[in-house]
Amino acid sequence: MGDIVHETATKWLNERGVTNNDLAELVYFLQKDYHDGLTYETCLENVEAVLAKREVGNAILTGIQIDRLTEQGGLEEPLQDMLKRDEGLYGVDEIIAFSIVNVYGSIGFTNYGYIDKLKPGILKKLNDKSTGECHTFLDDIVGAIAAAASSRLAHGQQED
Ligand code: MG
Repeated sequence: MGDIVHETATKWLNERGVTNNDLAELVYFLQKDYHDGLTYETCLENVEAVLAKREVGNAILTGIQIDRLTEQGGLEEPLQDMLKRDEGLYGVDEIIAFSIVNVYGSIGFTNYGYIDKLKPGILKKLNDKSTGECHTFLDDIVGAIAAAASSRLAHGQQED
C-alpha cells in the first residue's frame, strides 16, 4: 500500500504541475543562507525523503482529490463555494498541510509560515486565480513539503 500511495502521489503532483525540481527549488530558497555550499542535489534528496513518508503521500492524495472535485464542481454547498474561492477562514487545507510540516518537528512551522507569506517559485503559479484551476489544498501542501524537507536538511538528515 505504501508504494502505491507514494507512486500515485508523485504522479498526481506532476499532473497538477508540481515537479520534484519545483519542490527542491523551494528548499534551496529556504535554506541557502544557512548552509554553506548547499547544492541543489541535497535539496532534491531531502524532498524525495519527505515524499517517501506515508503520511505525506496520504495528505497529497487527499488534498489533490478535493482540489480536483472542486474544479469539477463536485462538492456540495457551502463547501463548493468556499473551496472554489479559497476562502481564508476555511483553514482545513492548512491543517492537512501541518500533518506534513509536523513530520520533522517544530522548526518546520517557521519555514512554512515564511514560504507561505512570500510564495516563491511554483507557489506563485499555484496561487494564480486567473487560471480556472483550483489549488486550495495543493498550495499549502507544496509549502509544507518544502518546509519539512528544509527541517530534515537542517537536522542533519538523521531522522528517517
Ligand atoms: Mg490553501
